[in-house]
Order: sequence, then structure tokens, then C-alpha cells
Amino acid sequence: MNHDPATEMTFIATSDLAAVMKGRSMRTEDFHAGSTVGWVPANLGIGIQGHIAEDLPFGSTGDLRLKPDLSTRRTVTGVPGRPDLDFVMADVVKTDGSPYECCPRTFLRQVLADLHQEYGINVVAGWEHEFADLDADYPHHPFSFRSFRCAEPMGSQLFSALARSGLGPDTWLPEYGDHQFEITLSPVPALEGADRAVLLREIVRDVYRVHGHRATFTPVPKLGGSGSGVHVHFSLSDDAGRNVSWDPSRPGRVSAQVGSFLAGILRDSADMCALFAPLSISYQRLVPNNWSSARVFLGLQDREALLRIVPTVEIGGKDPEPQLHFEFRAADAGANPWLFFGALMRAGLDGLRDGLEPAAIVERELDLKGRDKDLPALPSTLEEALDLFESSERARGWFCPDMVHTFLSVKREEVDQMNRLSLQERCEIYASVY
Ligand code: GLU
Ligand code: MG
Repeated sequence: MNHDPATEMTFIATSDLAAVMKGRSMRTEDFHAGSTVGWVPANLGIGIQGHIAEDLPFGSTGDLRLKPDLSTRRTVTGVPGRPDLDFVMADVVKTDGSPYECCPRTFLRQVLADLHQEYGINVVAGWEHEFADLDADYPHHPFSFRSFRCAEPMGSQLFSALARSGLGPDTWLPEYGDHQFEITLSPVPALEGADRAVLLREIVRDVYRVHGHRATFTPVPKLGGSGSGVHVHFSLSDDAGRNVSWDPSRPGRVSAQVGSFLAGILRDSADMCALFAPLSISYQRLVPNNWSSARVFLGLQDREALLRIVPTVEIGGKDPEPQLHFEFRAADAGANPWLFFGALMRAGLDGLRDGLEPAAIVERELDLKGRDKDLPALPSTLEEALDLFESSERARGWFCPDMVHTFLSVKREEVDQMNRLSLQERCEIYASVY
């Protein structure tokens, strides 16, 4: 990764259960290959509004380190009016350098290693984010040139910053919702993909802030309006680069092996829902007709599906085989990318280990009043999702007990606070955090 030794500061970053990027910085001049900085276990228990939750397995004692993963080092550059910054993602480790079992990034790295070791599968992922500009005043029209132009110069500056900072931006468009936009990033190996998702949000907010605008990734920027999702496109291949999802003889052209993997994700989606939809307002978005996830199913090209088989483009005789991949549509920006994508991969891996029947594919428009009314649903509140997670031996078992305890405490405290507020007030708070 490119980085500029002339920057003044280096930021060493992690992200926590509230999916807020955090870290410490030092002078780039002083940063060297062995540099680590201090971290504290209780930091994991900081809720969305910046307070440490009450009921935690950690107190004021204990020390950890943020250990930079040098392969992620880059210069964040191109944000107007902000100094260039050297940036590196870190793993949280113990003071002897051994892995810390509650580190979300280590959690994803470990499941990717297990998937490779047990099944020879590598995962590549490209992330798609939607966000809203809360301070835009022009009349918005979905996908319009007008909104594209009115969002200048932010759009161009943003793309330039993302490209020059090595995040691989792909496309940029005015989305359906009011002053809503979407950025897609190119696919990269899954750990790097999640790293980019963590950083992307900060760069977007930073560019907008420079212009006096608030960009928010909150799942419900405006009550009753279109939601903002985080969609993850992922594909699975072997070491020879062959797409292991591809089997043209089967429904949806999805191989039996990957069908089992996807069945694992569907099986645990309700139990791990609190991980990918972790805000009390996430459940306002996850309703039918929102193109988020109306039900738990694998859909052929259907935007109401939890998992979507993405169409291949065969214009000009392009080969569909390397293209076939899947999109997970239910997550939002309240979710820590390493943690929830790691949970999806764990669920898929369990599907493989248990030899699940390949997931059935819904190949038609959904009919929730008729033939599809019995398709399983996600929980309808965060409370329900947290209870399901807590009582699911499998989903809970993916994490160390301290992580489970902390996650449940942070999130239940959030539910208590949010339940005292109106939906409108909740939306405003989340819009200011995300
Ligand atoms: N805004 C929709 C969501 O909340 C997604 C729309 C789309 O890009 O298909 O996920
Ligand atoms: Mg979209």
C-alpha cells in the first residue's frame, strides 16, 4: 500500500462493538515496523454515545496493545483542507503480542483462515454503502444527473480521496431516498474489504464535514423514507482462482458446496441478526418493500432477499463463471464490518461442516400474502434479536464469553435508553452517531 513518510501523523485504528472507528495516533517520524500503542479492555464496552456500559466483564484494570497490520498502511489523502494522514489498521493484542480473543478484526481473520484450511476456500468481498446528506437543499431525484451535479464538488473530491487513499472506489450515484447516495468499492480479499468499509465511512463524513454538510450512514435517515443499507458482495474461490460457486447444471448455477455454505448463513441469520442489524432503528429498515430484506431467503436477483444471487453480465460474450457471486443485503452501518462479516462466514462454515442441504432458491417475485407467506422472518426488534443471539448456542459459541457479555450489555443499555425516546428522536441520535 502507498504511504507518504512526509505526513505529520499516523493513526492506528480499530473499530469496536458500536462500529465507531477508534485508535491512537503518533508522529509518522516515530512510527516504525514494531510500533504498538496502548489500548484498554473496557474500550470494547463503549456504547454509541460514548459511555462505557455498566455491566462489563472488565473494570479499570488491564492493558492491551493496538498492533498495526503493516499490510494495511496507507496515506489518507485528498480530503480538502485536512492534512494528509498516514493510516494503519491494527489488531488488538495482549501485551505479550498474543491475539486478544475479543478483537473483532482477529475474529474475521480467524474464520477466513479456518475456511481456507478446512475447505481451501478464499473469500473476496466488495462493499456497497448508502448514506444521506442531511444538509442538502436541492430537490433530489433518484439516479438523476441533477442530484449528481448538485452533490459536487463533494462527489468528485470524495472519489478522488478514496482512489488516492487506496480504497478502490467503483461507482457513485444518487440513490432512491432523499439526498441519499451510494458508493460501491471494488472487490478485494475479505479482510481488506472489511478494513476498507471501516475507513470509507470516515472519509465520506470527513469530506462532507469540510463542506459543512453532515453525511450519515444511519439505516433510517428519515422516518418513513428509504433506508440506507450496507450490502456486501462476496465470492468464493479455490487457490487456483476457480469460482467454487459455479455449477451451471444446478439451480441458479450455484454449486452444491456453496449452496450448503449459504444454507448455513440462512440457518443462523435470525440468531446473528443483532450483529448485522444492531441498532434499535435497524428494524424499521428491515421490512418488506424496502429492498433491504423482507424475509430470510436466497433469491435469484431479488432485492428483497437476505442473500441475493447477483446477475452475471454476458454482454459481448463475457464469461459468467468468474462473475457469479452473492450479496448479503440486511446489514447496516451500526454493525462492525469485521464482526458481522466474520459471523456470516462462521455461519457459512458451519453449514459446510454440517453438510446442510443446499439453500433453496426463490426464483420469482415474492408473494408474501400468498405462496411465500411462510418464509422465515428476521426478528422485528433489537430486543428480540439480542435474546435470540443470547439463546443460540451456535452463534454465541463463535465468540469468547467476554465478547458476548460485553456486546449484550452495550446493546441492552442502548435499547433501554432508546425505548424512552420517540422514534423520531432515536433516528436523530443515530444520524448523529453514524
Ligand atoms: N436502500 C435499500 C436498503 O436499505 C437498498 C436499495 C438498493 O440498492 O437495492 O438496503
Ligand atoms: Mg443501493
